Parts: sequence; structure tokens; C-alpha cells
Amino acid sequence: MGKTTGFMEFDRKDETYAPVKERIKNYKEFTIPLKEKELKNQGARCMDCGIPFCHSGCPLGNLIPDFNDAVYQGKWEKATKILHSTNNFPEFTGRLCPAPCEEACVLGINEDPVSIENIEKNIVETAFKNGWITPEPPIVRTGKEIAVIGSGPAGLAAAQQLNRAGHLVTVFERDEKVGGLLRYGIPDFKMEKNVIDRRLEIMEKEGIIFKTGVHVGVDVNATELQDQFDAILLCGGATVRRKLPIPGADLKGVVQAMDFLPQNNRKVDGIPFEGEELNAKGKHVIVIGGGDTGSDCIGTSIRHGAVSVTNFEIMPKSTPERPEGQPWPFWPMRLRTSSSHKEGAERVFSISTKKFIGDEKGTLKSLVTAEVFWEKVPGKRPVLKEVEGTEKEWECDLALLALGFTGSETSIAEQLGLEMDARTNINASVMDYKTNVPGVFVAGDQRRGQSLIVWAISEGRQAAHHVDSYIMGASDLPLKGDGDLPRL
Ligand SMILES: Cc1cc2nc3c(=O)[nH]c(=O)nc-3n(C[C@H](O)[C@H](O)[C@H](O)COP(=O)(O)OP(=O)(O)OC[C@H]3O[C@@H](n4cnc5c(N)ncnc54)[C@H](O)[C@@H]3O)c2cc1C
Repeated sequence: MGKTTGFMEFDRKDETYAPVKERIKNYKEFTIPLKEKELKNQGARCMDCGIPFCHSGCPLGNLIPDFNDAVYQGKWEKATKILHSTNNFPEFTGRLCPAPCEEACVLGINEDPVSIENIEKNIVETAFKNGWITPEPPIVRTGKEIAVIGSGPAGLAAAQQLNRAGHLVTVFERDEKVGGLLRYGIPDFKMEKNVIDRRLEIMEKEGIIFKTGVHVGVDVNATELQDQFDAILLCGGATVRRKLPIPGADLKGVVQAMDFLPQNNRKVDGIPFEGEELNAKGKHVIVIGGGDTGSDCIGTSIRHGAVSVTNFEIMPKSTPERPEGQPWPFWPMRLRTSSSHKEGAERVFSISTKKFIGDEKGTLKSLVTAEVFWEKVPGKRPVLKEVEGTEKEWECDLALLALGFTGSETSIAEQLGLEMDARTNINASVMDYKTNVPGVFVAGDQRRGQSLIVWAISEGRQAAHHVDSYIMGASDLPLKGDGDLPRL
């Protein structure tokens, strides 16, 4: 611990944002970084707790007090090594993670927690700027070949780990570019795509092979890969979108968020897209769903030039403070306000959409809602009930459905004879990531259901260890909680 009194001397200071009217003119990232001195002070706030709850709050088990201390001391290269010992891609989590580590920070009990996520981002950006992140190809190759299907954060983390163990890894991706939801879900204003590209360049130099535009299960039968590779790791995500089966759901203007967002990301990147252009310009937009995807639809619609953007959430409005019954250090369901929310969306809680109404040409013109509440039933899940007499019609010519995902696609599972779980993900235990078919593993959203980038990276790393063990009989690849500091 660098400064024993740091947590008493310095308040939390976060990076700021460019003004709304400036940043909505384009899709670029808009955060304004802190100065180095300020970042060191933020690192000094860490109390190096005897039991670092932040370690267990982080799905990667990041060694947070150690890199905070290195930052406080200005030892940025040391901080880079500590950070990369548990996280392959801190530039993704440093921008996009909701930071469960900060919710578990001991200082957060009665003060603002340490700004761990921002420190993480600055460590990795300093490292890239100074050329400290270089390819680490394996010294010896094992002669074993592994197929990773899907190039989101889970697939990328697993590929890098397995390559470091000396296996030749081929990543199959059906999209035209690598990155999964990092590239086609998350808008550029949250993470510009050159952040993915500079990391991919390093991974290619390490010897990882990327085959894009290959839809496994369609272009190539998964059983062929079983013959060609020593093991297969499925990282295809949870891509089946939840529908809203209400009258009018097929009207023109009722659009799935995951049609709207990927198309926009392709446009920003200059990649051609299929189908009709989806644009919010001049429209009254209603985004149905209050999560990350909904928030990304808000920011994108505002940048298109929507007349109004309203966001519906079926759950009641929480408080910005930790709600009662959700004590530290657990993840609380508090009210979170994203930078997109602050760009001009009206948020409505405890509301359910009952029907869409179209004109004579079948184009959406309004929708009807009702206020709702969750009735508690002893011993059972709460039941959604409508508040009588609260029906309301809203003008709306673009409704974006951001309702989450119901699980994994099934084509590969059918070809390989894989078991699905009750939530329609591919079934595998967190103990070894093995499916019911020998040599076939699964990680990330395709195993755990829709989740977070930090979990995807964590699952990719864990699964890599188990794939390596399966092939070699044992593995030196780290598991979460191995907790040893790298030799510095
Ligand atoms: C709009 C949106 C915003 C989000 N924002 C955040 C955020 O801010 N912070 C956060 O932590 N999380 C966020 N998430 C969640 C996060 O992106 C996911 O949890 C994470 O990307 C899952 O990683 P993954 O590697 O398991 O799968 P994915 O990222 O979904 O990647 C799966 C990849 O597999 C490919 N694939 C699938 N099937 C095949 C096949 N048969 N053949 C070849 N390729 C295939 C897909 O094309 C895709 O590229 C967001 C999600 C969405 C939808």
C-alpha cells in the first residue's frame, strides 16, 4: 500500500464527458481522461484491505490493490503486468464493465469506492501508448489444434490462453469481422472499434488464426471440425432474441435492437449491410427495455436525430443508493444512469406495452401501455399485474425492442448431439466447461446465458485451462483465484 492515508486525503474523482451537444454529433468515444497526478491519487485511495473483497467481486479475480499501488507509485509497466496476469483485455472491461469490483470495495461501505475501472483503463492505455503490449507467441508448439467457434470476448480470451499453452488455435466467426458483441452490439461511442483491431493485430502475430465469414453449422458441419481438431470450444454467445408477442408486433417500425445496433455499427465502420436502412431521424422513438442494450439504442437514436426518445422499463424505479436487503459487498440492483440516458431520454418505469397500432399501410404510429406492479406471492416468484385504468397511447414511429436474449442457437448442438440446459443454453458445468460430448467445451454467454464482458473473458480463460488439461493431461494456464502475482 503506497499511501496509508490516501483514502482520507483524496476524494473519488471520475473522468468527465464531453458536453452532450458536442458528443452527439458523432460516434466517437467522449470521455476526458484524468491527469496522471489525479490518477495516482485515485490509486492512493485503495486501502489494501486484509481481505480484498474487490478480488472476489471481480469475475476475473483481478489483483486490484496491487495494481492500484503500482499506479500510485507511478510504476505503470508493473501495473500493466499485474493487470494482464488475470485479464487478457482490460481495454474492453476498463471501458464497458459495470464494475462489480467497485460495489465490493471496502471503502464503498461509507465513502465512494476506489475508481478501479478507470484506473484499469488508464493502465492499459498507458501500456499501449508506450508499446509495452507486444505479441507473446509460445516458445514451443504442442502440435495440437483447437477450434474456437465465436470471436466475442469469451472466444478471444480462450484463444489467447490456449495459444500461449502452445496449441494452434483457429477462431471461426460468421460475421465479416472479429469481435462479437464488442464489435456489432456495443456502439462506437462506448468503445471505438480500433480498440479491438489493435488487440487483434497482436493476437495474429502470436499465431492465432482467424477465419471470418464462416458460419459453423451452416457453411461447415460441426462434425467435420470434430474430425479436424483435437478439441472444440463453443463461444457463440446467447443470440436468440426475446420477442414481444403482442398485437401489432409485425408492423413496419417495430424493430429488434439487435437489427438496429449492428446495422449502425456497420454503417459507422463503412461495412455494407443487408436489408432496409433503419434510421431514427425525425422519429418519436420508444425503446422497450431498460438494460445496456436499451441504453445503446437511446444513444444511437439521439445521434441519428430522433425527435424524442422514451425508454420503458417493466421493473419499478430503484434508488441510486444501495437498496435495503442488498448489502455490501453484493451486486445491488440500484438505479443506474448511463451517459446515453443523460443525452435526453425520458425514462418510464413500471410500464408494460400492450399493443402496437399501425396506419392503413401497416406502419407503426403509436403504442398502448399500462402501468404495472409486481404482486408478491409467498413462496413463489412475484406476479406481474396491471394497474386498472392506466392505459395510455404514446405517439411512436420507431419502437426498438431491447428485451434481452433467451439463449443459444441450436444448430451446432443438434449436429454434435449436445445437451441444452433448462434455460436453452448449452449445458456444461462451471467446474470444467465440458459438454456431454468428449472434446467439446462451451464458454461465455452460450453457456451462462446473456451476461457481461467480464464474465465472458473469465469463462474463456477458465475454459482454456480445462481444454488444455483435457488435451495434455494437466495445465499450467491459470484459473481464477490462483492469485499469484506474476514475477516482476
Ligand atoms: C447491445 C449490447 C450492449 C452490451 N453492453 C455491454 C456493456 O456495456 N458491458 C458489458 O459488460 N456487457 C455488455 N453486453 C453484454 C456482452 O456484450 C456479452 O455478455 C458478451 O459479449 C458475451 O461474450 P461472448 O463471447 O460469450 O459472446 P458474443 O460477444 O455474443 O460473441 C459470440 C460470437 O460468436 C459468433 N457465432 C455465433 N454462432 C456462430 C457460428 N455458428 N459460427 C461462427 N460464429 C458464430 C457470433 O457471430 C459472435 O461474433 C452488451 C450486450 C449487448 C447485446
